[in-house]
Amino acid sequence: MNILFLGAPGCGKGTQSKILIEKYGIPQISTGDLLREEMGSKSELGEKIKNIMAKGEFVDDKLVLSLVSKKIESVECQSGFILDGFPRNLSQAESLDTLLDGMSKSIDHVLFIDVPDEVLIKRCTGRLLCDTCDYIGNKDRGENVGDACPVAEGTLYQREDDEEETVRNRLDVFKDQTQPIIEFYEEKGTLKRLIGGNDPNLLASKIAKIIDI
Ligand code: ADP
Repeated sequence: MNILFLGAPGCGKGTQSKILIEKYGIPQISTGDLLREEMGSKSELGEKIKNIMAKGEFVDDKLVLSLVSKKIESVECQSGFILDGFPRNLSQAESLDTLLDGMSKSIDHVLFIDVPDEVLIKRCTGRLLCDTCDYIGNKDRGENVGDACPVAEGTLYQREDDEEETVRNRLDVFKDQTQPIIEFYEEKGTLKRLIGGNDPNLLASKIAKIIDI
């Protein structure tokens, strides 16, 4: 089962992917996580990525495609994968088609999580991550930068690109570059539109019905 999550920053793609990983063991391919990993290595490339991300802009298509194709071709993704954050523009969507065609694979479900802008801005600017595990907190639950993670030994921090000005820019970039892919998949007939922004468990149960595994 190959699944693709589409949606603006903060729509819940990452949270829903994690629920699917836990429930069905399908591996997730998150380009944001792969790029942050490269950034963490402090390489020259990592520094370049850091500057682009800090502005809320897109990293070079070729680089992202090479990261994704390595993962899709890996043994762990042979019986399925969840794409989160890729493709993000039409050129990436077309490259993904070519890559999958060459492997006689395809995307079974494209799940678009639609959330109003005000909710996205509030979520992203309040979002807190753990420096040790994949816990996602939020300031609107009374959590703050520097707090101890409630799950692991780690400390909570805010992503640099979750500052309000950058979040607004990321939303503009989404509308400009990513929204056209929604039509691309709508025409293929694989797109399912889901309303997000409320209870993540409710959304997860709607997704479970769609993918029906
Ligand atoms: P979000 O979905 O909340 O924006 P991500 O972690 O998916 O968060 O992405 C963070 C940043 O990583 C993006 O703003 C962009 O700079 C870069 N990025 C992630 N995926 C891609 C991609 N497919 N193409 C280009 N840049 C990407």
